[in-house]
Amino acid sequence: MKEVRDNCGIFGLYSQFPAVFDIYNGIDFLQHRGQEYCGIATYDQHVRQVTHHGKVGNSFTEQDLLYLTGNWGIGHVSLWERQPMAWQSRLGNISLAFSGNVINADEMIAAMKDQGHSFYRGYNIEVIAKTIMEADDMVTGIAALAERIKGAYSLVVLAAEGIYATRDVYGFRPLILGKNGTRFAVSSESRAIQNLDMDIVRDVRPGEIVLINAEGFHTLKQLPSPRKAHCPFEWAYTASIDSIIDGLYVQEARNHLGQALAQRDIDEKDVEVDIVAPVPMSGIGHALGYHQRSQIRYQDVFLYNRYADRSYTQSSQIAREKMAKRKISVLKYAVEGKRIVICDDSIVRGTQIQDKVRDLKKAGAKEVHVRIACPPLLYPCDFGVSTRTMEELAARQCFPSGNISCIDDLRKLEDWIAGQIDADSVKYNSIDAFVTAIGIPRGDLCLKCWDGIRPLLP
Ligand code: SF4
Repeated sequence: MKEVRDNCGIFGLYSQFPAVFDIYNGIDFLQHRGQEYCGIATYDQHVRQVTHHGKVGNSFTEQDLLYLTGNWGIGHVSLWERQPMAWQSRLGNISLAFSGNVINADEMIAAMKDQGHSFYRGYNIEVIAKTIMEADDMVTGIAALAERIKGAYSLVVLAAEGIYATRDVYGFRPLILGKNGTRFAVSSESRAIQNLDMDIVRDVRPGEIVLINAEGFHTLKQLPSPRKAHCPFEWAYTASIDSIIDGLYVQEARNHLGQALAQRDIDEKDVEVDIVAPVPMSGIGHALGYHQRSQIRYQDVFLYNRYADRSYTQSSQIAREKMAKRKISVLKYAVEGKRIVICDDSIVRGTQIQDKVRDLKKAGAKEVHVRIACPPLLYPCDFGVSTRTMEELAARQCFPSGNISCIDDLRKLEDWIAGQIDADSVKYNSIDAFVTAIGIPRGDLCLKCWDGIRPLLP
């Protein structure tokens, strides 16, 4: 049984001036990646650290920010774990924050306990920290993660000499560098860099260990990367639409995915509708792409409550369903008497899209056709994205084997899902269509949610 795991955002900044306000703003710009916990650590003779249960804007007090002195530091937002986490070690006084998931954490914890280690809660970040601190120096310790950890990690380590940043050798989770004059930043997403008036420099390469200090970015080691395995959900859903990840704009990717959905409808001469609409917010780019290719009128049919949180970053099912209901209402004027295509990023359990289809029909929609940018979800994530258990995935109930091998299988599933959610039709992008649309080589992506294959070499 897969637990719900965190999706997180990390940020670090080195400056000639007090860093805390930029770090505060940096993690605020990453808030969409996790809303349960937030934290900042700065370095000023030693690590100063404050973490909170809650969102960035509601949590940090003026006293917190005054306490967090120093010209460099790191920050974190999370669904599940309180980070950064500070340690006094033979490598010095350090603090760590990461995004990802350690699949073999339980085995590593058991082995470390046998060696005499103790754990606070057995968090992934503790496993990472203890692995690093066993080494004689920081670079050797960070490099050891690649040998010993199975899973995904983008990591920042705060130390006296600066900020270390690294990405696992597969590059599952994003990490990008930015600068403006003597301010140097590292972030889960470029939006935090751009919105702090800094220029994007480049992505951290899979397996690269970078030190950020007053002179800028220094690659201390480049570990061999057997293959890339970027998470495609970053472009389809997780990341903010104003970010660029591994050279591909999120907005561009979503537009192309929507265009692919429209092209399939055009090729299959299937749907005559009056308007195309997004399920906000992540469906917007997909619906725009659908409109661009089909020339069908784009029209909002839902009003998004910007004060509600993202439903998938809520930590319990009840919280997710409550949040989903709070976050969207129907624009009846736009809907009455219309045949509508609605675009969304993915279907997990199917309950939320079912609610939306019903709401639209209740408001007078004549037909509702659902178009989904991602292929059917058949497997949970192992690498740090909050997904449900296998049993909860709607597509899995139709295909218990977890194998959709041809277009006829896909059509069978689409008809079954349409029946489940009371839609007039449902279509997904196939895996091939998805990969072609975003233009990243198939071998550079993790497709495990869709094909069940873990992209880890033995
Ligand atoms: S398993 Fe799924 S969500 Fe997790 S990294 Fe791979 S594609 Fe992304």
